[in-house]
Amino acid sequence: MRKIQMVDLQSQYQNIKHIVDPSIQEILESAAFVNGPKVHEFQKNLEDYLDVKHVIPCANGTDALQIAMMGLGLEQGDEVITADFTFAATVEVIALLKLTPVLVDVDEDTFNINIDAIKKAITPKTKAIVPVHLFGQCANMEAIMQIAEEHNLYVIEDNAQAIGANYVYSDGRKAKAGTIGHVAATSFFPSKNLGCYGDGGAIFTNDDELAHTIRGIVNHGMYKRYHHDVVGVNSRLDSIQAAVLDAKLKHLDEYSNARQKAAQKYNEAFKDNNKIITPKTVAGCDGVCDTCDCHVFHQYTLKIKGADRDALVKHLNENGIPCGVYYPIPLHRQKAYLDERYNEDDFVVTNRLVDEVISLPMHTELDDEQIDFITSKVLDFVNG
Ligand SMILES: *Cc1c(COP(=O)(O)O)cnc(C)c1O
Repeated sequence: MRKIQMVDLQSQYQNIKHIVDPSIQEILESAAFVNGPKVHEFQKNLEDYLDVKHVIPCANGTDALQIAMMGLGLEQGDEVITADFTFAATVEVIALLKLTPVLVDVDEDTFNINIDAIKKAITPKTKAIVPVHLFGQCANMEAIMQIAEEHNLYVIEDNAQAIGANYVYSDGRKAKAGTIGHVAATSFFPSKNLGCYGDGGAIFTNDDELAHTIRGIVNHGMYKRYHHDVVGVNSRLDSIQAAVLDAKLKHLDEYSNARQKAAQKYNEAFKDNNKIITPKTVAGCDGVCDTCDCHVFHQYTLKIKGADRDALVKHLNENGIPCGVYYPIPLHRQKAYLDERYNEDDFVVTNRLVDEVISLPMHTELDDEQIDFITSKVLDFVNG
């Protein structure tokens, strides 16, 4: 059996080396390292794939979030609502821009931001909501867009974990994750579903004016060479990363499919065990029906009930199986983001999830033998 890895980028590279290597070589020969034609080509291809008017590449996902917020003109003291159960980048940029982060609880089933908690957190100072499409599945965008419309708020999708996923509306219509809110941010960090070989990110929007503003912000606030109209940043995707991403974009649906197949195998193995709660999909299809693609399993995350999660982590590690706890500490309890307005009773779900969740190896190259080994070790443990 091949060594089990949390994310197996080496095996994935071996399978696409024949496409990626010449593409990188071409950039080296051309010496168009920054803002070369390849960046433009990738941008266009991603716009087509997502069916979104504008993709603006940048240096990483955290920058993408920050630039999206700068583009919307959010100002010091504006309140931005986001999920308590996510990676810190989301709340970090809110704080860096001197906006006020307002963390709220998530749903027990989907791990995504809770709609009632959003409603409860809205004040006259609220200016934006940042739903994070956690682990590869969209937050309840229909409800979020409705709240935003009623209260005149911006919606910034943190799509770092769900590129390629479809959001399925209640009437059956579909849209790609990251194309529903006013603006979205994604990350091309190597372990993400569409990852490059270094850092990278992008902002998506259907708003022409906002896209124009953002294109200036990523380039030092310049709309005309050496004329700086706004305070900007320097945030670029380099051509080598664009070449890698353009090659991998052609495989993205196939990659999502491989993840869904692995998830289905895991689900099957765990389905009769009452101590293991498998991930729920909003569309109710386990994320594996051919038509909806509603979950792209950036992570495959179980909840462990009535067994010791931390001891399970240890057991798996001792058997050569890496696994992850995303995330072990709620953001509202992180030292950097403490706020006296928070009340523990408002974070009941997150406070429980941090003790129950475990993410199993999930990537595009998992084979049946590896999955069988992993599931047998998980079951051995929980069945004592
Ligand atoms: C990875 C990630 C980011 C940050 O992306 P970087 O490219 O690492 O800066 C932001 N939000 C979420 C939810 C992420 O998973």
